[in-house]
Amino acid sequence: MRKKIIIIGNGFSSLFFIQYLLALQFVPFFNFFYRKKFSPYDITLIGNGEFIYFPAIPEFITGSKNNREIRVDIRPYLKRRNIHYINDQVTDIKDGGRTIVTKHTQYTNDALFVGVGPAFQEDDIPGTAEFTYSPCRGPDDMDAFMLALNALKEGVIYLGFKLNKADGFVAGRGGQMYECACLLDYALKERGVRDKFEIHLFSPNIEPDEKGAITDRLSERGIILDYGYEPAKFVKGGLQDEDGSTRKADLVLYSAGITGSELVKKSCLPISKGGQIEVDKFGQVKGLENVFAAGDCASHEEPHQWVPHQAHMAQLRSQAAAKNMRSVLKRNKPTQTYRYELSCILNMENDAMWLHMSSDNKPPFWNIFPRRSKILVHVKNFFEGAYLFYLKYL
Ligand SMILES: Cc1cc2nc3c(=O)[nH]c(=O)nc-3n(C[C@H](O)[C@H](O)[C@H](O)COP(=O)(O)OP(=O)(O)OC[C@H]3O[C@@H](n4cnc5c(N)ncnc54)[C@H](O)[C@@H]3O)c2cc1C
Repeated sequence: MRKKIIIIGNGFSSLFFIQYLLALQFVPFFNFFYRKKFSPYDITLIGNGEFIYFPAIPEFITGSKNNREIRVDIRPYLKRRNIHYINDQVTDIKDGGRTIVTKHTQYTNDALFVGVGPAFQEDDIPGTAEFTYSPCRGPDDMDAFMLALNALKEGVIYLGFKLNKADGFVAGRGGQMYECACLLDYALKERGVRDKFEIHLFSPNIEPDEKGAITDRLSERGIILDYGYEPAKFVKGGLQDEDGSTRKADLVLYSAGITGSELVKKSCLPISKGGQIEVDKFGQVKGLENVFAAGDCASHEEPHQWVPHQAHMAQLRSQAAAKNMRSVLKRNKPTQTYRYELSCILNMENDAMWLHMSSDNKPPFWNIFPRRSKILVHVKNFFEGAYLFYLKYL
């Protein structure tokens, strides 16, 4: 009897989970027949059918990427792997994970993987939803920001972020906002109007005297560093401080801290202090049987303080979760843990830096790439192109 596996979500973590759960992934045509006949699993994915490559969103600012090219219809990818796709939204998870309730019906499973991504603490600073744009809300919101930006001939632009550190790691999007600030500087210079704009970078999570390579890159570009600053609220035309005074801003691009979504909070899944799904070092949801979670919806067990929510981290976690799910479905114990690694290329268009930290001090890609070079912009594009090619055709 095939084991019924349900996967919720079709973002990075779910797709990495599928990649590592299924063997023989590189000969898809034969795989399809092999899986149809011999697979020990009957896999169903519930989601919206569209994968979004979020890391490319900051590059909308320079026009090198756009809304259309970062979306992938994921249904053919699933079909090639003999995975049933259900276009629906999960509204509840019950019976210790065995029952999945959707908008339209409900499903049962023998094992569950949850990869529903983040929610953002937009209520944290009043006015966030009304008066700020965010790359983290997705490509449509970034398009709206670009429309507003292109309508400006001069002005003041604030970019900022806040982190949720309640679970002892970095649940937020600092790196992405640094990238947006540097790309904005580049784009305005290309338009020949940089001297007509003030760019500010603020975050209550950066010490006012913070030093380092990122600060150097921002300072070189004349970006005003409002480190340590948090507005009391966002208002029309600016940011308001506790004393009622207002800092003028024509546009605000802001990323709130990451927490768990409504589904996570409402369901039977255990919740961490930071509002995320509590998982152990094997990717198992604590206290539940055969339920795994990874990616931006899940906290870590005893993480290093610098650990981020990233696609790359989602990959490492999903890999462990997939191996452990195979193991528990054979009634064995989970054994596979995962490394912690922060690894991303900060694209500044005329320059780039590889930001990297790892729990085992391993360098990225055996150190074959420089840590700071414009070449890294091409490396980043190559990774993106290769991954999207894999999703579309393999
Ligand atoms: C602007 C930006 C730039 C970034 N740059 C980088 C980078 O350079 N490098 C890097 O490693 N990471 C980067 N990241 C982070 C990376 O994109 C995330 O860590 C990654 O997307 C997390 O994957 P995930 O699967 O957990 O969540 P997501 O990719 O958000 O996927 C969640 C999935 O769950 C689905 N879903 C949600 N709720 C439900 C529900 N109730 N029912 C059914 N389906 C549901 C969603 O539709 C989606 O398919 C960036 C993120 C942003 C926003």
